[in-house]
Amino acid sequence: MEAALGTLLRETLVEGCDRHADRPVRRAYRLVLLGAPGVGKGTQAELLKERFRACHLSTGDIFRSARHKLAEDLSPGMATAIEFMHRGELVPDDIVVRVVAECTEQLTCPYGFLLDGFPRTVAQAEALKGILARHALKLDAVLDYELPREQVLRRISGRRLCSKCGISYHMESRRPKVSGFCDNCDAPVIQRDDDREEAVRVRLETYAKRTAPLIDFYRREGLLVTVQCGETPDVTFARSLEGLAKLTGA
Ligand code: AMP
Repeated sequence: MEAALGTLLRETLVEGCDRHADRPVRRAYRLVLLGAPGVGKGTQAELLKERFRACHLSTGDIFRSARHKLAEDLSPGMATAIEFMHRGELVPDDIVVRVVAECTEQLTCPYGFLLDGFPRTVAQAEALKGILARHALKLDAVLDYELPREQVLRRISGRRLCSKCGISYHMESRRPKVSGFCDNCDAPVIQRDDDREEAVRVRLETYAKRTAPLIDFYRREGLLVTVQCGETPDVTFARSLEGLAKLTGA
């Protein structure tokens, strides 16, 4: 698995921060973003990345990009991960933890990092502590994005993305100008495999059962910042910054 994973990480990961940026950042934040699928974590990750210049590490993006590889180029671990993802189930902890542990460059980024979609189980959260301790690092905060279930379902069922350039659309709030085709590159606009109704049901149940316990886990660690979503991304972003400032005193 090691070699294939290394290649995958080099190829797809995860736009690292701009280490040569001249814009100073007041402090580095090492953050976990929690929240059910569809709450808008990805959008918040983009805004936070822009603000802090931190490295954004999305385990979902890593597994999705592995799907475009030929079967013979995939390590057994990645092939297993893709099967789980296709069903909307969680990839086994040992595979995910190995993927994240390999992301040394992102985890040690001097501008901090945003973990998006990891950890998703208490076992992963414990493993993350160990990985960070090996680099003498700690989390600064865990942002928990909350949105009522009906709104989550509406957001996910309308979500689409361009099959070529990956730009995202929404059938209610951000339709492509020509129905079914990307504004940017004219390629077909599609629904993510794991946004299909059956997979979404499984993902939400899995979130409630396996990931929601992390809210208490991180509350006990004194790291939890709860952020109510449901308004515009900018409002949610302002709430995120406010919550972070309150928790960290920065
Ligand atoms: P996401 O884009 O974060 O919703 O992730 C898409 C899919 O990738 C999930 O439904 C899981 O199948 C898999 N996945 C991503 N991150 C993890 C994780 N930390 N643990 C287990 N499975 C994951």
